Order: sequence, then structure tokens, then C-alpha cells
Amino acid sequence: MKRRLVLFAIVLACVGLFLPGTESTQAQVRRLSLATGGVGGVYYPLGGAMAKIWMEKIPGLIVTAEATGASVMNARLVHRGEAQLALIQNDIAYYAFEGTEMFEADKALGKLRGMAVLYPEVIQIVTLKETGIKTIADLKGKRVAVGAPGSGTEANARQILELYGFYDPVAKRYTDITPEFLAFAPAAAALKDGKVDAAFLTAGIPTAAVIELAATHNVVLLPVEQDKAEALMARWPFYTRLTIPMRTYKTLEEDVPTVSVMAMLVASVDVDAELVYQMLQALFLPESLKLLCATHVRGCDIQRERALEGMSIPLHPGAERFYKGE
Ligand code: GLU
Repeated sequence: MKRRLVLFAIVLACVGLFLPGTESTQAQVRRLSLATGGVGGVYYPLGGAMAKIWMEKIPGLIVTAEATGASVMNARLVHRGEAQLALIQNDIAYYAFEGTEMFEADKALGKLRGMAVLYPEVIQIVTLKETGIKTIADLKGKRVAVGAPGSGTEANARQILELYGFYDPVAKRYTDITPEFLAFAPAAAALKDGKVDAAFLTAGIPTAAVIELAATHNVVLLPVEQDKAEALMARWPFYTRLTIPMRTYKTLEEDVPTVSVMAMLVASVDVDAELVYQMLQALFLPESLKLLCATHVRGCDIQRERALEGMSIPLHPGAERFYKGE
């Protein structure tokens, strides 16, 4: 009898979970989808940790961290209401909000609002020592993984390769290289199998897909030379210079100069301001920061005091109230 009751309770709970919410049955349950990135990146595990924090701290809130093609796709998902929250690069968030660069055809994705700037995302151009490739110019004629379709990585790859003459912005296509549109984990696998010669990744360091590759292969990262870094920053001002320290990956024998952007958390303007306020409150609790830091070392960079540095779009009203300390 007891068993039957338990079963009945489980069935009821499942029905409750899957039926579309109505005022009377689910007044207290709110569901949000958090768009992250590929499973070999940093967005995905950190997004999972954030979802856990919010569900523990805010009664009746269900947050699901979804794997996606990352920044460019995430901006569209939030604007279309298919996700309410997203992790996204600050350069991509800006272009989306303004409807420029890769968003020209979409027009302005005006529903995006900022919640917090999180940590630096580093442009990493990965190859293996055995390819003999030492500079970006050496990529001529090579097969290059440029990022998943709809990723911020791919946007960064295009901008950088354009400066080296490997992307034609008028014809909107890569020239003198063969692009492969791969997320981090498949790009690392393709490097291992010799199916690509190099791969772009824009992500917090160290990035799981590269750590794993360096465990068995001699990973080399290509530098973005100083004059090219300056040209990039002059044209697309969200880039800043950053040096990847040697030994970030096991086989990295020297520091590698490159550029970086910032990861940020965004919400749709349609999410309730009080809820966004509560989510930020929960996120910046000492125990939450501890969990984020334990999830990935870049999670240790997340601080309330620095959460507006590099904010590239207007703040969500709930975030505005939070940072004003009201
Ligand atoms: N910044 C990357 C992109 O939008 C994703 C990084 C990650 O998954 O950690 O392409």
C-alpha cells in the first residue's frame, strides 16, 4: 500500500513537472533555460554550477543549463525567448544588441540585458608540434577548425584571419585555408586524427579540450603578433592583450602572447527584475563563489566588485538595483 502511494506521488510529481505550468498548479515554479556552450568548454560546467546555486537558493526556481553552439547562437536564443539566460562573450553581446557585424541580418537583438561580467576568455590557436606550424601566417593552405557554427570563437577566428588575409569580408568567406566548423571537443579530436592542422578556441584557460589533448600530444599555441593585436584592438575594441603563461598546458614551453575578450552572464529583458536581483544575490554569496571556483579556476575570477568591468550592453533593471546596493 505504502509502495503504491509512493508510486502515485512520483507520477503526480512527474505530471507536475511536464505539464505546462498554470497559475493554479504552479504558481511557485518558474523555469529558466541557461544557454551555455559545447561540453568541452568552460561555459558548460560553470553554467551547470550556476544552475545548481540558483535552484538551491531560490525556492521554486528550476534552471536548466543547456549545451549550445555558444555566444552568437545564445544571443539569438535569448532574443527569441528560447532561453532566458545565457553565457556570452562581451564583444558578441555588443554586436548583437547593436545589430552590427555578424548580426546585421538579424537587426538589433534588443532583448539582451547584462547581469555580470565574469572572467577573461582567451583566443587560443592550437596546433601540434609535428605540424611545423609556428605562426598564423603558416596556416596558408591548411585545414583549420574555426569554431562551432554560431560560436563567438568563429567570429573571433574570422576577425583574426581577416587581418592575415585568410578571410574575405566582402565575399564573406575564408580564403587560402579550409575552414572546419567544429566545437572544442570535436576540434581536439580532429587535431589528434590529423583531420585539421590547427584549431581556434575562445574560452577561459585552461580549456578542458586542450588539457586533454596535451595529455597525449605535443600541443603548441600560435602567438597573435603585437602589430596584429594592435590592429585588432583598433578595429574591434573589445579585444585586450593577454599572455598565456607557459605550462598552462603540459607541453607549453613558453609564454604565448594573444588577445582576449570577457565572458558575461546575460538575461532577457522579459525576466522579472526581482528574480534577476535574487539570482545575483545568490550568485555572489561566499559559498556560491566557492563552488564556482571549485568548478573551474576561471570561476575564481568572478567578483561582484569587477562584474561591471567590460559590461557591453545595458544592465537588466534587476542587476541595476543589485549593483546600486539597494
Ligand atoms: N566563448 C566561446 C564561444 O562563444 C565559448 C566558450 C565556452 O564554451 O567556454 O564561442
